[in-house]
Amino acid sequence: MSDLFVDIVTPNGHKYQQPTGLFINNEFVKGSKGKPSHHWTQQKEIASVHAASAEDVDRAVRAARAAFKAPTWKKLSATDRGRLLVRLSELIEERKELFASIDAWDNGKTYELAMEDDLPDSIGTFRYFGGWADKSFGQTIETSPEKFAYTLRQPYGVIGQIIPWNFPLAMAAWKLGPALACGNTVVIKAAEQTPLSILVLATLIKEAGFPPGVVNIINGYGQEAGTALTQHPLVDKLAFTGSTTTGAQIMKAAAPALKEVLLETGGKSPLIVFDDADLDQAVKWSHIGIMANQGQICTATSRIFVQRTIYDKFLALFKERVRTASVVGSQWEPTTFQGPQVTRAQYDQVLHYIGLGKSEGATIETGGEAYPTPDGKGFFVQPTTFSNVKPSMKIYRDEIFGPVGCLLPFDTEEDAIEYANDTLYGLGAAVFTQNLRRGHRVAAEIEAGTVWLNSSQDSDHRVPFGGYKSSGVGRELGPAGLEAYTQIKAVHVNMGNDL
Ligand code: NAD
Repeated sequence: MSDLFVDIVTPNGHKYQQPTGLFINNEFVKGSKGKPSHHWTQQKEIASVHAASAEDVDRAVRAARAAFKAPTWKKLSATDRGRLLVRLSELIEERKELFASIDAWDNGKTYELAMEDDLPDSIGTFRYFGGWADKSFGQTIETSPEKFAYTLRQPYGVIGQIIPWNFPLAMAAWKLGPALACGNTVVIKAAEQTPLSILVLATLIKEAGFPPGVVNIINGYGQEAGTALTQHPLVDKLAFTGSTTTGAQIMKAAAPALKEVLLETGGKSPLIVFDDADLDQAVKWSHIGIMANQGQICTATSRIFVQRTIYDKFLALFKERVRTASVVGSQWEPTTFQGPQVTRAQYDQVLHYIGLGKSEGATIETGGEAYPTPDGKGFFVQPTTFSNVKPSMKIYRDEIFGPVGCLLPFDTEEDAIEYANDTLYGLGAAVFTQNLRRGHRVAAEIEAGTVWLNSSQDSDHRVPFGGYKSSGVGRELGPAGLEAYTQIKAVHVNMGNDL
């Protein structure tokens, strides 16, 4: 058993046992390759976890299929299913400091952000969908005096879920909460960069009382474990959060069997500041919108459009805000706003884009380099802002997924809407104005699944979330989140004897 659990003490003093195996049928097991594969975090090896092979994925899917048919899950009342989810949310809440510590260590996000954002989001999502479990019904439809039909909302069966590394625990909650509330069983693959918190979650899934096989958790690489999951014939539906490129590959894998997909993918979200906006608010949220979580948020408002009449004033205030509020440093310091990027690969990508911006001729207003640390360790990047950006530039078009924003002026409302929509993506958008009519008018015109009026990045488990255009297919969270995990069956009834 020794290599299935590792004793760990986090930098902020939490002692715990880190599971490292694959979680199948409520037990931790070794991967078929027998050895944990390497997993590094923030230049320290915390623990190596077993990466799943195609054979392991098959084991997990078969466990989920058997659990879907077993009376312990199939015959469990919806109310009792909901109770299990609420219990799980309570168990996470009891250990929220531990989970925040693991995600801060594994991902590099600040402990403060993990405590104030990731944990309430995860706990709230499980509790919210626990509440929904016994409140989702079909309809009765009268068709003629002697006939009627009714509909049943039924689970799909086995859902294959794949999540990214930027909000490790919260992304797991967004996927598991609604799928389980609706009575599905799941095989979920964590991101290879951040597998640790979901393995601790596995222990709580068992403790909460979920029957074996209802939730199976595998780690592993996208090309091997991810592909095996998306191509497995016994998986009934796929749900994915990650890059648009991978989303497209998943859609392709689902096509031969016409499997449904739920996809949450990338973004290049606009933020528009009109000249009647409360400027302090606009500056504050513009900063949070692109720099929070090291810029590693799919909805990051990375293209900031400011009305020309206030552009210079806004730019000066924004630079001042970055200087005073973007404190870069250790994720454990309460004063830190920006920790390290998640991996060297991500750090290299962000610096590559900063280099591209310079060579394309944009002007650096803040940052523009790696952030130097005394010991030269950690993947820190200076919070970077470009002006003189042209729509043809890569830094304007591509999702950078780092603390790098572009500032551009605009003249009219029509221009602002046109620029905002000039992207393949459509995940989020923010509008700053004190004119109510204009705010709602512009919100309706923007091609995005979420619009914030006088804010940025608000997210709530009660509110549907998803993308327009290449930012996704389907919706998560809110009542719409249940739609994604049930299919509707129509039953026609004939009560007469002459028809
Ligand atoms: P990624 O697409 O490379 O990886 C995401 C997940 O997919 C990982 O678990 C990975 O192992 C798996 N994967 C990779 N290739 C696969 C394949 N061929 N088949 C099956 N699975 C595969 O994304 P990333 O770079 O790790 O994450 C960052 C991206 O995620 C950004 O583009 C960001 O916008 C997006 N994201 C979107 C949302 C959202 O809700 N829309 C949320 C967070 C992140």
